[in-house]
Amino acid sequence: TLSDRLTSVLQNLRGRGRLSEADIDATAREIRIALLEADVALPVVRTFIANVKERAKGAEVSGALNPAQQVVKIVNEELVGILGGETRRLNLAKTPPTVIMLAGLQGSGKTTLAGKLARHLLTQGHTPILVACDLQRPNAVTQLQVVGERAGVTTFAPEPGNGVGDPVDVARRSIEEAKRAQHDVVIVDTAGRLGVDEEMMRQAADIREAVQPDEVLFVVDAMIGQDAVTTAEAFRDGVGFTGVVLTKLDGDARGGAALSVREVTGQPILFASNGEKLEDFDAFHPDRMASRILGMGDVLTLIEQAEQAFDQEQAEAAAAKIGTGELTLEDFLEQMLAVRKMGPIANLLGMLPGAGQMKDQLAAVDDKHLDRLQAIIRGMTPAERTDPKIINASRRLRIAKGSGVAVREVNDLVNRFYEARKMMQQMAGRFGLPGSNRGSK
Ligand code: GDP
Ligand code: MG
Repeated sequence: TLSDRLTSVLQNLRGRGRLSEADIDATAREIRIALLEADVALPVVRTFIANVKERAKGAEVSGALNPAQQVVKIVNEELVGILGGETRRLNLAKTPPTVIMLAGLQGSGKTTLAGKLARHLLTQGHTPILVACDLQRPNAVTQLQVVGERAGVTTFAPEPGNGVGDPVDVARRSIEEAKRAQHDVVIVDTAGRLGVDEEMMRQAADIREAVQPDEVLFVVDAMIGQDAVTTAEAFRDGVGFTGVVLTKLDGDARGGAALSVREVTGQPILFASNGEKLEDFDAFHPDRMASRILGMGDVLTLIEQAEQAFDQEQAEAAAAKIGTGELTLEDFLEQMLAVRKMGPIANLLGMLPGAGQMKDQLAAVDDKHLDRLQAIIRGMTPAERTDPKIINASRRLRIAKGSGVAVREVNDLVNRFYEARKMMQQMAGRFGLPGSNRGSK
């Protein structure tokens, strides 16, 4: 599985600025194999990987995840996005009856789905009727009638003994029947062929023309794999559809067809069929399908855990630093910059605990002032930033010259830093943060 193969790439490589091209490429290669193994069509894999690489290049390295994990995370997000984000519901007509037409290859599961949909709609208080427009195979009408009985709904079919009926005519008459008998949803089952052929397409297109469905659902067997693209394209061009239903997800298909169909046609996947029984049916869940395609349920869990652990680690480290008074000028600068990102400082004052006493001091700090403070700290050596005690008179002079400020301003900054550090130690003590004298374990 992907998670097995990624173990070699997933090593602890924290905090390296941006994701490097080599990291991205290595992980992308693994993802590519996983997608192909999941039977995603090659052109779809190519586009997908290109998008992921593009996004990964711009991504800031998170402290929590190693680069491989981060690429996997991006892959998963992209995948869920392409698969549809949120689940879409059926479009119902403003004026009943709503007409739902099913199209797809023979054996894709249309007739079975007709029963499942009918049952699903019944439980929601609708009054569906099934329509038998597959007049190609001898048993097709009977099969639909059996399915309908099981679901507890009426099936509209051509009268027996009239020879082979005209499916377009049956479809048209079924709408009249639905209006007469007050069925608010009409589910039209159509014929399929083993392969795509023109006559089948024309018939389906004619039925569509005749009944103007609110939804045309393209029913596709998830086991179809690589062929999903050509089949979906043929149905898109020949009949057109507004949504997709994936069937046979109870099989061992990895679900690549879902990605292919979605990417090629842009139409949403509405439902998932996962068994022969009426109740083996569910709304389609993009996130579950994404994990299935990548076969990386465990990888995703690992990533979540890594992120949580890191957040906690960071919070604890910061708290410990404050408590023990190890706050450096580097931290000080970082915090000022963070505060600045959040907007005008004045607005933040009210939100800080114990801000009352600092208020006057902080009110004097405007953006221009911050620029100067930043310049001063940047003008210090790393040793000076970590241990401000060493900043003696000659160092102060050097720093002032280097950053274009007066020595007085350097003095000011260093003093203010000591005050801030003292204040934080007191606050840490009061709040019982780890590392402080009081409240530590
Ligand atoms: P149609 O030709 O498109 O109408 O397809 P059918 O509804 O007749 O289904 C073809 C075969 O697939 C039947 O044997 C169904 O029982 C079976 N089938 C349909 N949907 C599913 C499914 O979700 N899971 C499984 N395992 N079998 C299914
Ligand atoms: Mg059928």
